[in-house]
Parts: sequence; structure tokens; C-alpha cells
Amino acid sequence: MKRVLIPDLVLDAYGARSGVGVTIEDGRIAGIGPTTEGERLPGRALAPGFVNDHSHAFQRRLRGAVEKIEPSRPHDDFWTWRERMYELADGLSPDSIRETSRRCYEEMLSAGYTRVTEFHYVHHRPDGTPYDDPNSLAKAVALAAEDAGIRLLLLPVAYARGGLPRFRDPTVQSFLHRVDDLRGWAEDRPLVGVGVAAHSVRAVPREWLEEIGDYARFGNLPLHIHADEQEREIEECLSEHGVRPIELLAQTSYLGPGTTIVHATHADEHELDLLAEHGATVCACPTTEGNLGDGFLPAVEIRDRGIGLSVGSDSHVRVDPFEELREIETNARRMEGRRNVLVAENEISPTPYLLHAGWGRAGLQAGDHADLIELNLSHPALSGVKADDLRSALVFGAGGGVVAGTRVAGERVHG
Ligand SMILES: [Zn+2]
Repeated sequence: MKRVLIPDLVLDAYGARSGVGVTIEDGRIAGIGPTTEGERLPGRALAPGFVNDHSHAFQRRLRGAVEKIEPSRPHDDFWTWRERMYELADGLSPDSIRETSRRCYEEMLSAGYTRVTEFHYVHHRPDGTPYDDPNSLAKAVALAAEDAGIRLLLLPVAYARGGLPRFRDPTVQSFLHRVDDLRGWAEDRPLVGVGVAAHSVRAVPREWLEEIGDYARFGNLPLHIHADEQEREIEECLSEHGVRPIELLAQTSYLGPGTTIVHATHADEHELDLLAEHGATVCACPTTEGNLGDGFLPAVEIRDRGIGLSVGSDSHVRVDPFEELREIETNARRMEGRRNVLVAENEISPTPYLLHAGWGRAGLQAGDHADLIELNLSHPALSGVKADDLRSALVFGAGGGVVAGTRVAGERVHG
């Protein structure tokens, strides 16, 4: 089935075009070009859907519940927050994780995310024994994405030590066997892709990093890991391995062009050089990093080295791609003491760089999945904004409320 959508404007990272139609066929964009024939979308702009590149959907249940100091723990930080999160994780069942994840994914669609990368580490029964189907919880998350209609990259996450018993697999082979199984199960599910991850260098030993790195390279799979989020994690890595987390990843086979480092908040110059050399990318999660008191992304150093950047809503303290992008730039401004900091080469505004990070691409292209958002041009946040200024108004002055409709594979899933 073929249809042509004609909004008032079509946005990409570099501009806004009018008189343009977007042709959708079999869930993909078949073409973009001047047209007058098709379904008009008055008062709307069409843009690519945002990619939420780091999510723990179940943590959505902590929203609003952890914004106070427990009298027994007067010093509240990442590590006390983590205990609250563990309590929540300990109580999850296949049904409850599916329900919570579906609600979280629906919120993402309403805010303009069309794809999510789920970093999934709750695998087994609370006592650590596997479910009858050892991938029950991972499949529950995938079914939640299908229920909501969001595109999913599911990352089963390896955990060897620390955390809760239900996070851990006894051997890296048994973990990878589960990943094999999940990949087979997901093969004929059009919205679900499978990659692989290790939780962090504190959660797995060096040999696991080697095995998982090799497995990802051999299968050409996306490979993620949390690194350099907290100073303490770096100190522990230095005392165990004598090197910093990203240095350890570079010594193993973990670092490569398919690798995404989540956070990299405290990455030093050498670690950032290693990311650039290996073609690895960084996923920043500014609203969560701010909420947890992690620190600031070294955004200027990342931009200067040409390291690819994506964003994620991580703990879902907030689900709003516009806010994630805005925080990256405004934090960089605070740190640099000047304006318009993350400006790409040959540009005069940070907007194209930021939108590219949020969309994972510069704009809509023939052949891409028809994962689109409709923006309400008469929303109060956008009223009076000229077409040429619209992209920057979105990044600097709007929120997910301007998203009037969301399509995944051409199907309307919100609005
Ligand atoms: Zn995370």
C-alpha cells in the first residue's frame, strides 16, 4: 500500500521545506519530493522520529518516588538511588515488566521517540534460577514494545558479579547461549532487533569482555556498555586492572565501530582518543545524569574528535528527546561560559549537530523505515516561530508536547 503525506513543512537537520510530500510504501519511505497529490496534514511539520538509545524501561516506576532523602541515608547519591532501583528490580515478574515497559514505551512514542534501545539486565527469578524459558523477561520487554508499536533494539546484558542474583549468569557461554536463542526468536518480528551488552567493567571480568566483544563482531551486532558514569567505578577499575574502563575495553576486543559507550561522563583525554581511534560512539543521558548527580558530558571533546553521539532517557526520570538535546548544549554552555558551543564544521548553530544526535541521521531519506513524527505548528511553544527558526525552536524552546502524531513503519502509533 502506498500513501503520500503532505505536511506544511518537512524538517531535516539543515532546514525546513514546504510543498514536499513524503511517500510511504511497505513501512518505508519510498520518496520525498515536490507534490500536490496526497493526504494533506495542515498545521503540521513532519520530521524523523527520535532514537532513544539507552533505556531501562522498568525504572519508569521510580518516577517521583525517589526525589527525597531517606532519613536513614542522609547522604543520597547514585549508590543510594541504586538500592531503591534494586528493590524495584527484585519485585518484577514477566507480567509486571511487560506492563511497566509498555507504559514507558507509550510515553516515548507520545514524546517523539520511534525507536528504543533497551539495556535489559533483569533475566532470572529473584533467587537467580532461570525461568522455564530463560528469556521470559527479555521476551516480555519485546512484547511490550510490540504492544506499544515502538521499534526496539533489545540488548540482553551480561552480569557476572555484583547486583542482584537475578541479573547474573553463571558463565559467559550460558549468557551467549541465551542471546542466540533470543536472536532466533526475534528473527520474524519486524519491530524487534537484538544486539548484546555487558553491564559495565565492574559487573563482568576481562574474559567476558573478550568473549562478548568477539561474539558481537562475529555476528555484526550492536554492542553497548555503561562506562565512566561514576568516579568510584573508575577507581575500582584502576585498582583491579591498572587501567581506566575505556582503556580496559580497548585492551580487550570490546571496542570497535559497533560499540556504544553509555555515559562516558568522566572519560579522560586518552579514553576519548581511544573511542575516536576505534570508531566507537557515545550515548549521553543528560536528564538521568543530572538527576543522579553523575556529572557533565565532555561534549566539546567528543565533538572535536568526531565521536558519534546519541541520546537516551535511561532511568526515565524524564522522557523527552528535546530536553535531552537541550541539556547537552546548555550544560556545555555552562561549562564553557559562552553560547552556541556544539557547532559542527561549516555550521553557525548547534541545532544540526544536536538533531543529528537525536535522530541518528540528518533527515528523512528514501529507503529508511517510515518512522516519523508530526509536529503541531500551532502549539503555544511554536507559535510565531518562522519556518527557518523552527528546528532551533524545537531544540531550545519546546518539549514532547509539540508532538501531535507518531508513526512507526508508516503506522500511526500515537496521536
Ligand atoms: Zn543505564
